[in-house]
Amino acid sequence: MTKVAIIRCEKNENNCPMTNCFKTMMETTEGFARYDTCEPAGVFTCRCPGDNAVNHAKILKSKGAEVIHWCTCSFAKKTPAGWDDKNGGFCDHLESIAQKVTKESGLPCVLGTAHLPKGYSPEIISQD
Ligand code: SF4
Repeated sequence: MTKVAIIRCEKNENNCPMTNCFKTMMETTEGFARYDTCEPAGVFTCRCPGDNAVNHAKILKSKGAEVIHWCTCSFAKKTPAGWDDKNGGFCDHLESIAQKVTKESGLPCVLGTAHLPKGYSPEIISQD
């Protein structure tokens, strides 16, 4: 059982209630396929320019989170041909935010939750 937290981008907070993020977490599919079972540890919303993310990560860690997943829509867009990460998503600097979060909180970050783009393997950022 892995305790998984999710951080999403504020630019999608009023349009998507993270339905497929939670569905795939509970099914351990898509971005969560590496786990045997998952337990949700909590959710936060990252607000531009991302200065709150480290503090959010520390709080999530204090609540038992072992890993943070960043929503797929942060770095990919829905297209008629499916989700595509070639032209980015809601956040232009997700990678640097996630690296800082891992460095300062100690929690690994995984880029991806639901509906992964074709051919994309979730990027894992860790201190190792
Ligand atoms: S990754 Fe998909 S399900 Fe999750 S918040 Fe973004 S659009 Fe919604």
